[in-house]
Amino acid sequence: MRVLVVEDELRLAGALARGLAQKGFEVEVAHDGGTAYETAVHGRFDAIVLDLMLPVLSGSDVCRRLRASGITTPIVMLTAKHGENDEADGLDLGADDYLRKPFSYVVLLARLNALLRRDALGRPPLLVAGDLVLDPATSKVWRDGEPIELTPREVALLAFLMRNEGRIRSKHDILQQVWGADFDRDPNVVEVYVGYLRRKIDQPFGIHTLHTVRGQGYQLQSGG
Ligand code: CA
Repeated sequence: MRVLVVEDELRLAGALARGLAQKGFEVEVAHDGGTAYETAVHGRFDAIVLDLMLPVLSGSDVCRRLRASGITTPIVMLTAKHGENDEADGLDLGADDYLRKPFSYVVLLARLNALLRRDALGRPPLLVAGDLVLDPATSKVWRDGEPIELTPREVALLAFLMRNEGRIRSKHDILQQVWGADFDRDPNVVEVYVGYLRRKIDQPFGIHTLHTVRGQGYQLQSGG
């Protein structure tokens, strides 16, 4: 299990890192929000322990940016602020849990283990095609970190095409998989929805990844 500890108080960061390492976690430490964001985006972590008050970027900014980039790694937010809204603020930003300082190390460990169990059980993996990310758990979609609003049917169609990235899928296949086997409407609805998707996932970004292959079907091709 890899954990990223983000804490600018060096002694606390060191103590957390040693404690977690002793429990068998592989630990990386970041001392400011900017480094934390870069490390979390480029590394694969199972959980992040994130202090709220940090230099460069605050813990809440890091949290918001990570979620906007499609990073769903569970986050425990550490807060030293005294205010009734701290908890709500942290959770609204996409943190999964919070702990007010000073906290007991045993409690942190218990919360961390609870989050890791929940994550392992429930959350389906993100679909990724180039810089396009779809979270099947929340139906949220991002291109290059920018959120894209899609209807449920558009999400279902995009998820199917992302799972089949690089492969050509026929209108018939798409109708069966996305609309259901008993779908009896005009198959041209697929073309219509592919058009909707293009206007949302490609055109605003000036790229062309969703292709019509004449006489064969449709293909999502993110590379190049
Ligand atoms: Ca701090």
